[in-house]
Amino acid sequence: MGRRRINIAIDGHSSAGKSTMAKSLAKELNYVYVDTGAMYRAATLHAMKERTVVDGVVNEVGVRAGLDRMYLSFRYNPKTEQSEIHLNGVNVEREIRSMDVAQKVSLIARVPEVRHKLVAIQQRMAEGGGVVMDGRDIGTVVIPHAELKIFMTADPETRAYRRLNELKSQGKQVSYNEVLENVLERDRIDSERAVAPLKQAEDAVVVDNSELTMEEQFNFLVNLARTRMQDQP
Ligand code: C5P
Repeated sequence: MGRRRINIAIDGHSSAGKSTMAKSLAKELNYVYVDTGAMYRAATLHAMKERTVVDGVVNEVGVRAGLDRMYLSFRYNPKTEQSEIHLNGVNVEREIRSMDVAQKVSLIARVPEVRHKLVAIQQRMAEGGGVVMDGRDIGTVVIPHAELKIFMTADPETRAYRRLNELKSQGKQVSYNEVLENVLERDRIDSERAVAPLKQAEDAVVVDNSELTMEEQFNFLVNLARTRMQDQP
């Protein structure tokens, strides 16, 4: 009773801390964490390498054709103790976090065939339950029957500031304004796109973490998840 492995969908705005929370939650519950943003970022890197996205201009026909040459997988790295994304067999976990990729990813993520391919992979990963998946359309499109849906947000300035610190800690040189602009622009494109736009699922629990510490947020989410698990038949 109450032991069934549930699926947890975490959606929300860019840089709202979804992946940090999703990772911690998955670790605590012994669930699998799936970073769908990494998949869209890797698809973007693939398009950049094939030059089907250049200077913010997308060649959609080229992107679609390139999908047949794109193989994505997650492989566990014992050094980082994380599952890391591979594009055609190469670990691109670091490369996909660049500003260059961040500035193009929303353009690639709105191509319907890209979404179609990635959503199918994500749905297979969630089939058996026991997954914490974060993204933009997880609770609405990928796993609409997820037992727990969270919509995470924070005010844009807080999100930009946190992201700036993260990039700086990785040795990347970027300005606060550049990061804020990127966060706002991605939210705009993600929310306005025709296919699977970023929006809160009706049955999602909204977590605005502008004023919450990591610990407060984590405790809240773990309790919520355990309660949902108990509620399962
Ligand atoms: O989560 P992250 O910020 O790494 O996601 C990068 C981008 O990938 C988002 O800005 C969005 O354009 C796209 N994305 C998406 N659907 C998802 C996850 C990410 O469109 N489920």
